[in-house]
Amino acid sequence: MQTNMLINGEMVAGEGAALPVIDPATGAKIAQVNEASEDQVDAAVRTSQEAFDSFSRTTPADRASLLLQIADVMEAHQDELAELESLDVGKPWPSARDDEMPLTIDTYRFFAGAARTMSGSAAGEYVAGHTSMIRRDPVGPVAAIAPWNYPLMMASWKLAAPIAAGCSIVLKPSEITPLSTLRMAEILSEVLPKGVLNVIHGRGASIGDRLINAPQMEAISITGSPATGMAAMRAASQQIRHVHLELGGKSPVIVFDDADIDAVAETIRYGAFFNAGQDCAQPCRIIVQDGVYDKLVAAVESQIKQIRIGAQKAEGTEMGPIVSAAQRDRVAAFVDRARDAGEIVTGGTAGEGDGFFYHPTLIANVDNDAEVATNEVFGPVVSISRFSDAEQALGIANAGRYGLASSVWTANVGRAMEMTSRLRYGFTWVNTHGVATPEMPWAAMKGSGTGSDMSVYALDAYTSIRHVMIAHG
Ligand code: NAD
Repeated sequence: MQTNMLINGEMVAGEGAALPVIDPATGAKIAQVNEASEDQVDAAVRTSQEAFDSFSRTTPADRASLLLQIADVMEAHQDELAELESLDVGKPWPSARDDEMPLTIDTYRFFAGAARTMSGSAAGEYVAGHTSMIRRDPVGPVAAIAPWNYPLMMASWKLAAPIAAGCSIVLKPSEITPLSTLRMAEILSEVLPKGVLNVIHGRGASIGDRLINAPQMEAISITGSPATGMAAMRAASQQIRHVHLELGGKSPVIVFDDADIDAVAETIRYGAFFNAGQDCAQPCRIIVQDGVYDKLVAAVESQIKQIRIGAQKAEGTEMGPIVSAAQRDRVAAFVDRARDAGEIVTGGTAGEGDGFFYHPTLIANVDNDAEVATNEVFGPVVSISRFSDAEQALGIANAGRYGLASSVWTANVGRAMEMTSRLRYGFTWVNTHGVATPEMPWAAMKGSGTGSDMSVYALDAYTSIRHVMIAHG
């Protein structure tokens, strides 16, 4: 198993503490990976700064070619990468390969095209005798931090856009799920020029903290929890850095009386329990109009009861374990605190065995301001509450701290347009939830972050607008 880090084009063993990597389905240790030492973090940062000088001057066509090569080598290794992802995070096989790898790989292909689309306003004489032009240049070396829920896909979102923009990167995956990213680093070291990508391993509070505070890193890009986003903003405030944050979410699913209830229930099953609910856009907070409340609770219950939980490769597994014992306990504590605030329709218990399983859980009759309805659980738990009219639904949904994903379910196009224009979320689906494509922004508002991953808008985080003025006669 590949457990080395990538620093200055070389695969090197960490010189820090050994951290265990656990199979969440059994609790058994799969590997142990040494963290970077402080000197190794500094070496990665230094080499990233050195590589930036030449990489930032490559042409968009050069970078597009590299991104297409990355997509090709990732595709050639997709079974192996998905295998590591499935083992490390507990994702059902072959969902890890068939559901996640295509979007991961396509992200590189999309950014190969996006690298060549950057344009700006026209050059011209805005002051007589002076010609002005706008440049959009790479922002600088990027400190990129990824979470554990989709380690490879999130790392790829963190890599493809800055590479397209011409930035070098030091990437740190989550300390609990490093395996697929470390293998990807080895594969990409054959494609990318030395130093353009460095991958280091280690815990957030020490190694991550050193990385985001390194003076040579000119941008910080985080996908993770709000607490880590705040740490990034504090670090950025010390040196005035660009910060790009994709943080938590609590997606409202607003269901009107005229919605297709079976479609809602099916989407909840396949969306809210995908990846054991560990998804920032998870459709977890269902807000239902009074007239269809009972029908929807019954339909969702019936769908959820069909979900089979099991180990990654067990026959028929639809949902795997939660990533770690700590996260499983956090989820269980949320549900325990919600027992008096609502009715546990199904689930609410841990699975058997040594793995970190938790049964798919539906909590109905939840107050709209209850903890479980307003805070990110990040596990296989869905709450259902009621509303009576559109104004009330908007008030409930927009009152939350988060602003990532949302969905509206109605047959009335006018109402859908009104709701989508007034929901204060980075993205809103109508009559679906969770469908992603690299052309469209994974956009964050409010407490969910700043800017977006994917789409040409992701390039904004990794480029700076510059003005060049030439005086002439
Ligand atoms: P986390 O914030 O605990 O960890 C994320 C990463 O940050 C890890 O690599 C961790 O080591 C690092 N980190 C932690 N503290 C740090 C510090 N002080 N300095 C530097 N790095 C630090 O998040 P997680 O538990 O791995 O992931 C779950 C969270 O990620 C959820 O809140 C989820 O909603 C969010 N998420 C958001 C998106 C999105 O696109 N908005 C996508 C996936 C996950």
